[in-house]
Amino acid sequence: MGTIFQNAILVQLDPAIVQPGGLRVSDGKITAVGNVIPEQGDEVVDCGGAVLMPGLVNGHTHLYSALAAGMPAAPKTPTNFYEILKYIWWRLDLAHDVQSIRASGVVGALSALRCGTTTLIDHHASPNAIEGSLSELEGGIAQAGCRGVLCYETTDRNHVEEARRGLDENERFVVLCKKRNNGRFAGMVGAHASFTLNEDSLAGCVSLAKELMVGVHIHVAEDLCDEAMTKAGYGNSLFDRFAKHGLLDLPGTIFAHGTHLSDADIDTVNQRDTITMAHNTHSNMNNAVGYAPVARFKKPPMLGTDGIGADMWREARTAQFKSHDGDIPLPFGRPLAMIGESARFASNALGVKLGVLEPGAEADLVLTRYTPATPLNADNLAGHMIYAMGPEFVSDVMIGGDWKLRSGAVVSCDEVAIRSQCVEVSRALHERMGEIPCE
Ligand SMILES: [Zn+2]
Repeated sequence: MGTIFQNAILVQLDPAIVQPGGLRVSDGKITAVGNVIPEQGDEVVDCGGAVLMPGLVNGHTHLYSALAAGMPAAPKTPTNFYEILKYIWWRLDLAHDVQSIRASGVVGALSALRCGTTTLIDHHASPNAIEGSLSELEGGIAQAGCRGVLCYETTDRNHVEEARRGLDENERFVVLCKKRNNGRFAGMVGAHASFTLNEDSLAGCVSLAKELMVGVHIHVAEDLCDEAMTKAGYGNSLFDRFAKHGLLDLPGTIFAHGTHLSDADIDTVNQRDTITMAHNTHSNMNNAVGYAPVARFKKPPMLGTDGIGADMWREARTAQFKSHDGDIPLPFGRPLAMIGESARFASNALGVKLGVLEPGAEADLVLTRYTPATPLNADNLAGHMIYAMGPEFVSDVMIGGDWKLRSGAVVSCDEVAIRSQCVEVSRALHERMGEIPCE
């Protein structure tokens, strides 16, 4: 018994494939593509000539900000990126407890689901609730039904012992996921950023990642302050410090942002296959940190939202448009390859095949109501994705062969009840945040 999708336009982003037809799903995977014939007991879905595509992957996000809407304004107005962190995000992360972490997980993943985003590569922080936090986050994400590649962002910015506790949480979660090996959740070693990690903490991240055979997920040169504070505090440039600690050659490592990299730094990234960049257009605009040299990276950076929702169509569109403000505009359609890179990274981390419509791939599928009004083919797919399509067309989402969204309604959990319960959790979170001094 399986599910048969018929009368669809099958769309794969990278490499671009557009073909009319259908596919069969059984035991959580795509088992056949093309002209599929239903067997007795199969569920048959008539796609009505609309686009059916693989679930999208968000390459860098922070679900801990999923309950940020309506949070109290910072008592002082930030005047630069460092103050944005200190006055806003580092007060929100300090205010988290286990309940608000789980609530952030489910609310963030529900938003993702509605955008056809089925896997989240997340970077989590909750300095007053470190132990077990990744399992709480996982519990929330799993309630909505999404997959996740999670890590705790190790730092010693609040206390010296905080880094050890962050590393322990990363280790606990990576070991747990490796043991379960279920393709749903995987762990990495998270690190906040060079400028909030002392030498021991940074060395601890790299040595733990080597021991566990996973990569490090770290913010890199998001703002000029990362390079400047690294130089002032540790006497090395950012990349020299990373080289000294062996971070540049650690396979499966994510460098988020890379907004302010020198020509030599970009060459260093381009000479290696160990590093995957993650670009977050809206977040960079929101924080006014500048524009990352996205077009100069040989391997497409992953596309992420950095905690601003999970709408990969919006992110792709703005990544394309915003690149006109940089020195080298992105070749048209490059954001599709960037979404493809997010899927490849998550596939490697989870040990499954995501982002493709082929036998053996996970049945993470997004059925849209997008029936194109103009010709659609592999050569002009980017035009449809960037100018015409969007989450408003997402009607049904299947993850691992199970329905999570059906005709626009969440079926993996009681969305209305959860969102209403989260209001009280958020109110308490915002109150705790309001009590944290702004210094
Ligand atoms: Zn980030």
